[in-house]
Amino acid sequence: MASEGSFGTHPTYWLSQANEELVMLKDFNNDLEIVGQALSTSTNMDGQEITSEAELLAFAEKVKFPSHALILKNCDVAPKNIVKGITCETQLKERYADMLRSEQRVFVQTDMRAMHNPTRQLIIQEATQDLIDKVKCTCPKCNTPGFSIVRSIPGLPCAVCSTPTRSILRKEKECQKCGYIETVEFPNGKEVESPQFCDFCNP
Ligand SMILES: [Zn+2]
Ligand SMILES: [Zn+2]
Repeated sequence: MASEGSFGTHPTYWLSQANEELVMLKDFNNDLEIVGQALSTSTNMDGQEITSEAELLAFAEKVKFPSHALILKNCDVAPKNIVKGITCETQLKERYADMLRSEQRVFVQTDMRAMHNPTRQLIIQEATQDLIDKVKCTCPKCNTPGFSIVRSIPGLPCAVCSTPTRSILRKEKECQKCGYIETVEFPNGKEVESPQFCDFCNP
């Protein structure tokens, strides 16, 4: 098993922060890699420079501290003074006071390591469920696990002018072992797209 999380701007909704989690099962017997995935805008990822204890405590409340841990560090491109995994208010105040003795500027940020971030744990749980679902799906031809969607093909036609849109027309499942492909037509349950998503009718 292996897992990896990443944080940043959501790939579709650019104004939102997002957290993507991947959980991989390596099947050495069949030489397969099956990957579960979850993408969510539910993340507390945040950080800012702080100039007072009041500002620090306001930030802490906003990002769900103390159930979610914090990191304090000096404001530098390569910070040398870092305290991670802060989970109680007394400790937070003490560490901040300590840091002020040696640093001009202090930065606070959310600790995104999974064991310190219950919001992230829920998304890892979703990715793990996705992995379990994929493992349970077996190839109809050779019965190998992990028979899942590998490609989404756009081109769902516009309901008014029939121009292919960017919406998904079909998805393809492919077996990693024997290469068998199964096509899922109209995976979102509709055969035409609304003209509001058509580049020709609604450019
Ligand atoms: Zn159209
Ligand atoms: Zn197969």
